Amino acid sequence: MSRYTESIEKLIEKLIRLPGIGRRSAERIVNYLVGTSKEEANSLAEAITKVKENVRSCSICHNLSEEDQCRICRDLRRKKDIICIVERPSDVTAIEKTGSYSGVYHVLLGSISPLEGKGPGDLKIESLIQRIKQENVKEIIIATDADTEGEATALYLTKVLKPLGVKLTRIGLGLPMGSNLEYADATTLSVSLEARREI
Ligand code: ZN
Repeated sequence: MSRYTESIEKLIEKLIRLPGIGRRSAERIVNYLVGTSKEEANSLAEAITKVKENVRSCSICHNLSEEDQCRICRDLRRKKDIICIVERPSDVTAIEKTGSYSGVYHVLLGSISPLEGKGPGDLKIESLIQRIKQENVKEIIIATDADTEGEATALYLTKVLKPLGVKLTRIGLGLPMGSNLEYADATTLSVSLEARREI
C-alpha cells in the first residue's frame, strides 16, 4: 500500500522514468509541487507541452530547432564548409559551450550499437552524404563518443566518407576512453577539438 494519494503516486512514477531522477528526488519534486501555487504548477505543465509541440529536428543538420532550420544552420557567420558529426543534440550544446568551434554540425541521432539492434540505417548518414555531395565541404570532424558504439560509428563513417574525397578528422585526444561527449567539460572538449587528427 502506497503512503501517498493516488495522483501523487502516479506523478512520482512518471518522474522516476526521467533520466537522473530516483524515487527520493521524485518525492522531493512532488512535495514541492504540492506546496506551490496552482499557477506555478500549470506553467510547468505548459512549458513541457510547448516543448513537445514546438521543438523539431532541423531539416539540414537534425539538431533541435523550433524553425525549419536550426539557429546554427541559419547563422551566416558559421563556416558551412566544416561539418562536425555528433551523436545527439546535447553534444552540439556541449561543443557550443566551448565557444571554440565556428563550423556547422550534423547530428546522427544515435550510434551504431549491435546490442541495441541499431545499425547504420538507423542513423542520419544518408542526409550527411547528400550534404557533402551538394555543398563544398572542406572538412568533416567526427566527434562521436569515445566508447565502443562511438568508435564503431566513427569507423563506419570513415569507410563511407573517405571515398568522397573530403578531409576527415577525428577528435579524441584528452577524452577518456569510454566517455560521452555531452558530459565532457568545456576545456577538455576544446582541447580535443583543437587536437583533432586526420584519418
Ligand atoms: Zn541545423
